Amino acid sequence: MIELDHFINGQRVKGESGRFGNVYNPATGEVQAKAPFASPDEVDAAVAGALAAQPAWAAVNPQRRARVMIEFVRLLKRDMDKLAAAISSEHGKTLPDARGDVQRGLEVVEFCIGAPHLLKGEYTDSAGPGIDMYSMRQPVGVAAGITPFNFPAMIPMWKFAPALTCGNAFILKPSERDPSCPLLLAELLLEAGLPEGLLQVVNGDKVAVDAILDHPSVSAVGFVGSTPIASYIYSRGCANGKRVACFGGAKNHMVIMPDADLDQAVDALVGSGYGAAGERCMAVSVAVPVGEKTADALIQKLAPKVENLKVGPFTAGEDLDYGPLVTGAARDRVLSLVNSGLEAGAELVVDGRDFSLQGYESGFFVGPHLFDRVTRDMEIYKTEIFGPVLSSVRAGSYEEALGLAMDHEYGNGAAIFTRDGDTARDFANRINIGMVGINVPIPVPLAYYTFGGWKKSIFGDLNQHGPDAFRFYTKTKTVTSRWPSGIKEGAILNFAAME
Ligand code: NAD
Repeated sequence: MIELDHFINGQRVKGESGRFGNVYNPATGEVQAKAPFASPDEVDAAVAGALAAQPAWAAVNPQRRARVMIEFVRLLKRDMDKLAAAISSEHGKTLPDARGDVQRGLEVVEFCIGAPHLLKGEYTDSAGPGIDMYSMRQPVGVAAGITPFNFPAMIPMWKFAPALTCGNAFILKPSERDPSCPLLLAELLLEAGLPEGLLQVVNGDKVAVDAILDHPSVSAVGFVGSTPIASYIYSRGCANGKRVACFGGAKNHMVIMPDADLDQAVDALVGSGYGAAGERCMAVSVAVPVGEKTADALIQKLAPKVENLKVGPFTAGEDLDYGPLVTGAARDRVLSLVNSGLEAGAELVVDGRDFSLQGYESGFFVGPHLFDRVTRDMEIYKTEIFGPVLSSVRAGSYEEALGLAMDHEYGNGAAIFTRDGDTARDFANRINIGMVGINVPIPVPLAYYTFGGWKKSIFGDLNQHGPDAFRFYTKTKTVTSRWPSGIKEGAILNFAAME
């Protein structure tokens, strides 16, 4: 049995708490490794190392910090296949999808190479008589990131790359379900020239998370995961006076207008609904065809494509559509939600409940499911399923479709498929959702924009990556300066204005 480590002060260290979590091979259902669960003392030691390393790193000029990221990008490309294999073996996603996971993180690292420009402050010459004013962006100190299982490369990079280039030290608490890739990333950053102690990877569960949230030396916490935990982390982190940004769950709707190119819409639904077995926060899980004719035609075209999806272990080849779910518990939860949909009266057009793969009978595979005639009161509509289950909710009109997405508690992503510019524009302007696609099913913004939902999909003010990340990981300091030769008047006791 492989025993995984933490990564502290530039090296892998064994866990000391005596507590471990199982890391599965999702394709076979076997436990392939044990991840150590850090105690509060181990978190404390990681924070102490980070605190000691951070001031010298903050004093390194931004251009040199950016050069570490330039080298890190090169190493990520060099080790792309190794990283992807580590992800697939613990998460279960296909190799091309795992490479995409690394690539979308790498793109944020590339954006961070612009740190010298992004960290520039403002300057006003002669803001008053003989007075100049300027602002600087200074690092927060030690920041932390708590990340989910579904993107074990991308989301840690979204967090630590901007934090580090801003001059902070970073404590990463990755998901306990697939912790190998984050450890490899920490080693690569060391190889790229990051000094020891600046990226500490602490594996663990709630005990480690709570120790981070309560630690007086951790100034900022970024979280990505499910909404109940996002809400908890936001409240506890804020109550402890930290800067906190949490990104939660989703239920992404895709509206299909009668004038849409139906073949394109069907392909978009298959890719975004079932890719990564639906374990994406930007997965489309609700199709909203407008009008009965559109709905009938959509289901007719969609069902055979969903039935023919190729499901298997990542080792079976690059042409697989998706792999197993991450754990047996995740599989059981999805299947129980499918049963709840049936009991509530939804029509199960494609039934994947009996899916089984010879040689992988104990794997966490779930066959593809397609529900039609789902209604807004059903559990399968209200809940984020996070599995290969697409629900179609028929709407009578555009307004009804728009209202459906707007009334849902989540607000991560939404898409509309139409040929009509007016409708698309109206949709983008009115919808209360953070990321919108027009004939694009998974509208994940690129690295130089920001990523974030609305409503219960976010807790906090700033988004992830892009310019917001540089705001989140820095504090603004504003300096007003006047030199003795510019001081003409005596003591001023009123609240002076610069007239
Ligand atoms: P999760 O909430 O179970 O876990 C996320 C992190 O929180 C992990 O590191 C985990 O160890 C920790 N954690 C879990 N329970 C905790 C507790 N009780 N106290 C303290 N910490 C705890 O999420 P997951 O299953 O790993 O990831 C899937 C979820 O993440 C989905 O809801 C998905 O929509 C969401 N997600 C959101 C985004 C986004 O940007 N909005 C991106 C990816 C995933």
